[in-house]
Amino acid sequence: MGNLFARVRQNASVLTLAAVIASLAACMSGDGKKIRSGERGETPTTDPASAPAALAEGISRELASRRRARISALRYRLRLRLSPASPTFSGRVTIRFALKRADQALILDFRGPSVESLHVNGQAAMFDRVRNHLVIRPGPFREGDNTITVAFTSSVGAAGQGLIRVEDKNDGAVYLYTLNVPADGHALMPLFDQPDLKGTFALEATVPEDWEVVTHTHPTSVAKAGDGARTWTFPPSPPISTYLFAFAAGPFDHIESKAGSPPMAFYFRDSQRSLAERHAADIFRDHRNALAFFEAYFGIAYPFPKFDFVCVPDFPFSGMEHPGCIFYGETPVLLRGLTTGLQRTRRADLIAHETAHQWFGDLVTMPWFDDVWLKEGFATLMAHLAVADAMPGIDHDRAFFLRNQPAALDVDTTPGATPIRQPLPNLLDAKSQYGPIIYRKAPAVLRQLMLQIGEERFRRGVRLFLNDHAFGVGDWNALKSAFETASGTPGSLDAWSEAWITSPGVPRVRAQIDEGRIRIRQSPPPFLDRLWPLSARLISLDATGDASGFPYTLNGESRLVSVSLPLAAPLHLFPNGRGLAYLDARLSSADRSWAVDRRTHIADGFSRVLVLEALWGDLQDDILAPETWAHAALDHLGDERDLRTRALLSAQLGVVLTRYLDGRVKMALATQWEEHLLKIMRDATLPRDLRLQSLRAFESAARTGAGRDVLASMVSGESPAQDLDVALRDRWRALQRLSLLGDARTSLLLAALAAEDTSEDASRQSFLVEVARSEGTEADALFARFFEDPTLPERWVQNAAPLFFSSERKGRGDRFLARSLSRLPWIKLHRKIFFLPAWIDAAVRGRLDTSALSTVEAV
Ligand SMILES: [Zn+2]
Repeated sequence: MGNLFARVRQNASVLTLAAVIASLAACMSGDGKKIRSGERGETPTTDPASAPAALAEGISRELASRRRARISALRYRLRLRLSPASPTFSGRVTIRFALKRADQALILDFRGPSVESLHVNGQAAMFDRVRNHLVIRPGPFREGDNTITVAFTSSVGAAGQGLIRVEDKNDGAVYLYTLNVPADGHALMPLFDQPDLKGTFALEATVPEDWEVVTHTHPTSVAKAGDGARTWTFPPSPPISTYLFAFAAGPFDHIESKAGSPPMAFYFRDSQRSLAERHAADIFRDHRNALAFFEAYFGIAYPFPKFDFVCVPDFPFSGMEHPGCIFYGETPVLLRGLTTGLQRTRRADLIAHETAHQWFGDLVTMPWFDDVWLKEGFATLMAHLAVADAMPGIDHDRAFFLRNQPAALDVDTTPGATPIRQPLPNLLDAKSQYGPIIYRKAPAVLRQLMLQIGEERFRRGVRLFLNDHAFGVGDWNALKSAFETASGTPGSLDAWSEAWITSPGVPRVRAQIDEGRIRIRQSPPPFLDRLWPLSARLISLDATGDASGFPYTLNGESRLVSVSLPLAAPLHLFPNGRGLAYLDARLSSADRSWAVDRRTHIADGFSRVLVLEALWGDLQDDILAPETWAHAALDHLGDERDLRTRALLSAQLGVVLTRYLDGRVKMALATQWEEHLLKIMRDATLPRDLRLQSLRAFESAARTGAGRDVLASMVSGESPAQDLDVALRDRWRALQRLSLLGDARTSLLLAALAAEDTSEDASRQSFLVEVARSEGTEADALFARFFEDPTLPERWVQNAAPLFFSSERKGRGDRFLARSLSRLPWIKLHRKIFFLPAWIDAAVRGRLDTSALSTVEAV
């Protein structure tokens, strides 16, 4: 058992190191492209007197603030010609702006392959290409209005290019789209690629005549352009940040909804018509509900000229909030096969999140990506409020807690935790920030603030902030002042902000009975020496499982609360009732033993979740043995019926079985779990969603001989439960699992399933099975393909990483650890925002031994 304890402890260190690597990744420089100067016969050397001395790769904060001080009234007009097959496209951008200090060089950002010409105010201008910038000599500039026109060529590809190409395997159709966040706009076109220089964007795109073009405005004209092409001309967008400029082009089909204001259009691939028709009513309804909620909440009418959304094939995110043309991945929106209520609620939540961004993020934007947490935390919190309003009958507080707190605490209780807001010297490093602290801790902490200052004052503060900065930028300090103004107490949030926003970590809180009174005590995590100002709610359960509670605040280490205790009955205390605060809430040792033994059924579902989270924390701290925890979890799963709670417990159980246990103990627990899942899915008296979820949990959990046999028959299309069909996707997932476990039947089953599945997803699924089973030179070749195969979509590699580095194939993961880390600088330049944290997480999280730790530390 000592050995297992050590592994748990070491796992905690590895998690820590994942956060450390993220910051290490942030410190690494780019790929060090050499200076290339003198395009088209311009003066071939860089004049240090005219170029800023320290012009780095990426957008440094210094460069951004210099430009912000000089440039205003920015307007872009982009003309381009697109074709389905070409690996490049040519474009011409005209940039109009007002300039101060015309006697200095001006720097545009551009990462595309070539610049054909560059004119300033009608004259050919001298410029140098320096580390993906165009440094324009000062000669032709003047104070006030200026125009730069650049003719350029940019690249098109499946991943890592300014314009992303996707081919529909059903009909061969090609779709193109942009994804500029956080600072990839300059891979598309020359511009000033920083969020605080907002500009209007007017697009003129010449495309094949059967294509549609979708961007931020409705076209003013669509005219024949010869050679089977049409030119789409759009009026300027309102002022937006460069990371939000977007368009999609291709033979899209669409469905309109004119039943409300604004009218909406939903674009999708031509081949997805029947799926889109099946979901369109729900998708329009979810958008309309969200829009109505936010217009009322923010007190500002929807601020952009139109409201459309596009389902983009192989999109690497769930959604991206481009103003008036939101992009979604197909998977989370066009739900396939049998769907659960949970999947549909999650889709409503995603839709509300992107809709909330239209105000928070798009109308008012953070000036720099150190405040990216603000827009993400806000959109997640606002989506929670909107979905709770639209979908009664669900415990949304519990859903919010389960979605955010466990993932945030997983990182925030380790020494590698970073603050929500941290300095960001260069936008090149912005991709390293995206992770649980931004996406999970930030919403939890903002909700805590909302409850602390009161919902009405919070809403007034948000309205003040949005009104004051509409079509401009506003940072955390501006929002904090707005909250203080709304509360009538200037400076009142300084200490709160210092504790929760600019410092890392989370307080651990316990409550216990102390001489007839309740003592609530906070302690810092072992690696920090500080205390937090906090407000929460204490819940007590009596012997019958009934809950009661009261609010408390804690400004110091502990406090004693006098309450009349029903001494006849034993009390169990939870310091974070209803999960209202963001805390690492734990149980007293007596309550822990009680919870592990489960002597009382806890009737309140939320209190059950709080107990389980506290036990998970104790497991991470080696206070609870993995075997004890697993028995308690399985025992609990026996009668838990809430899908979200079950999803979290299943994921945790997977971690414990894969990483913390081995031998006979592991297989005994695995058998018990498989039998439980089979029992649930076969019980026709239980709700269908619960049974379906158990079937899917089985696909990623089975490991015993009997379990593998069930998986193998699932791959062949046989369902383990009579009236629950296994869809193609279930069959592929079962095969992935067998393949990961090294099952000898994999090759035969793969050949049979690949021959049977004629759908477009078959090649991605086959690829994932190959990744899961690869060893030796095959694994080397696949690893090389992840980076070098220009036809491989980014989403495929992101899906493949957790399989490739799976703890089930520890040797393979260890062998590729150093190589996977050495690719981080390349990834930062060539992959989108979520890829980097997902890659680090996959590569590092499962590694447990000391040699792996030293590899990581050596980076
Ligand atoms: Zn977002």
